[in-house]
Amino acid sequence: RLRIEGLTRRFGGREVVRDVSLSIEAGQVSCLLGPSGCGKSTTLRLIAGVDWPDAGSIHVDGAPIVDGRARVPPEERGIGLMFQDFALFPHLTVAQNVAFGLPRKAAGRDERVRELLGRVGMTRHAEKHPHELSGGEQQRVALARALAPRPRIMLMDEPFSGLDDRLRDDIRDETLAVLKAEGTAVLLVTHEPTEAMRMADEILLMRDGRIVQAGAPYTIYNNPVDLPAAAFFSDLN
Ligand code: ATP
Ligand code: MG
Repeated sequence: RLRIEGLTRRFGGREVVRDVSLSIEAGQVSCLLGPSGCGKSTTLRLIAGVDWPDAGSIHVDGAPIVDGRARVPPEERGIGLMFQDFALFPHLTVAQNVAFGLPRKAAGRDERVRELLGRVGMTRHAEKHPHELSGGEQQRVALARALAPRPRIMLMDEPFSGLDDRLRDDIRDETLAVLKAEGTAVLLVTHEPTEAMRMADEILLMRDGRIVQAGAPYTIYNNPVDLPAAAFFSDLN
């Protein structure tokens, strides 16, 4: 479970993330939804630990990872990442790419790799290299790699935007099904209201660095907090 309170990040005196509070439960998908430049990626970077907030706290399963002076490094946070530029290692096979996410001497490493390749439907491609795969297949491998260390939380920043429409819907649905099966809490960034409506258990509507509304998709859709929120959903059909 991820809990964030009062997260704030300034760049050159401008507050890009302003007093953001949210929490996500295991097996739940929360969508951070908002227009370009509203602060979505910055929020994810703060949670991932590749950037540091000016104020606020982040807890994972009750333990502080950012709180006052406490600063847990990214690789110790139990947080997985899938970003748009999800590059696989070109010189490693599919199986080796997935295994890369695990400590070299981890017990049951090979079994875990096989299990994950099965989950994402890539078992028969295990010995191929990334250049022998389609974009969608590469993304499945990236998912398996991100899942390998069993992150309790997965942060996804528009990871499907490089794919064509049909494939994107399929891969996105498959990915979230796998994450739910693993009991992972998911924070998915998007600027597409349709995507959020389709995927989210909860939508966090972001604007100018703030969460302006949070709730179940149809609650927000039917009761937008203000005119800009209504306008944001207005071209949905
Ligand atoms: P998009 O949907 O286009 O990806 P976003 O919501 O992810 O947008 P962010 O990348 O979080 O937006 O950026 C929010 C604001 O912060 C933008 O105005 C951006 O220019 C600014 N910003 C982000 N990173 C930095 C930085 N390192 N230095 C200065 N300004 C930054
Ligand atoms: Mg972004």
